[in-house]
Amino acid sequence: MLYIKSFTFNPFQENTYLLYDEKGNGTLIDPGCFDLAERKELLDFVTEKKIRITQLLNTHCHIDHVLGNAWAKKTFGVELLIHKEEAAVLKAVEVYAPNYGMVGYESSEADGFLVEGDEIKVGDEVLKIIFVPGHAPGHVVFYHEASHRCIGGDTLFRGSIGRTDLPGGDHDLLLSKIKSQLFTLPEETVVYPGHGPETTIAFEKTHNPFVGKNARS
Ligand SMILES: [Zn+2]
Repeated sequence: MLYIKSFTFNPFQENTYLLYDEKGNGTLIDPGCFDLAERKELLDFVTEKKIRITQLLNTHCHIDHVLGNAWAKKTFGVELLIHKEEAAVLKAVEVYAPNYGMVGYESSEADGFLVEGDEIKVGDEVLKIIFVPGHAPGHVVFYHEASHRCIGGDTLFRGSIGRTDLPGGDHDLLLSKIKSQLFTLPEETVVYPGHGPETTIAFEKTHNPFVGKNARS
């Protein structure tokens, strides 16, 4: 059984996800926690549920998804894994963080790279790495096939899609990758996005104004 706990952190209202199994094996994805209260909220949950976080993943490395990376690495003693195309995106955060008022941002480097098609394990639960660039050049999503649930980062939102005006963004690529990589998942698949509420592949295929069946191209 894979549990998915979500937190909403930082001024960007970013969704941080903690995946764990019934034995307490945990994987932290996109830790956006920045201030003390946010970090305490995450830590209190981990302590209460007796979760051992053994790895740290980023769907992509925009500032709102990485604010807690360095803290999480130190606090839980874990390695950070990202897609290699995100290494430069992560590095750039050091430069522009103060422009967003994120004073005191601590940078961290990846310890290893996520590869499309590979699998990540949370205890015995398997997550498949799916490559969905366009919002960011090395954006990946994590798909738990056994329960048809997907940690989608900033690819597909309920009724929207990720912005593509940031460096490395590509609108047409994002649209085509959502169609080829996400809309080919089972319709009942629940997507847990980087911002806002959960959605399903079926709902977005019908209603999404950018990639749904009535989208204007
Ligand atoms: Zn982003």
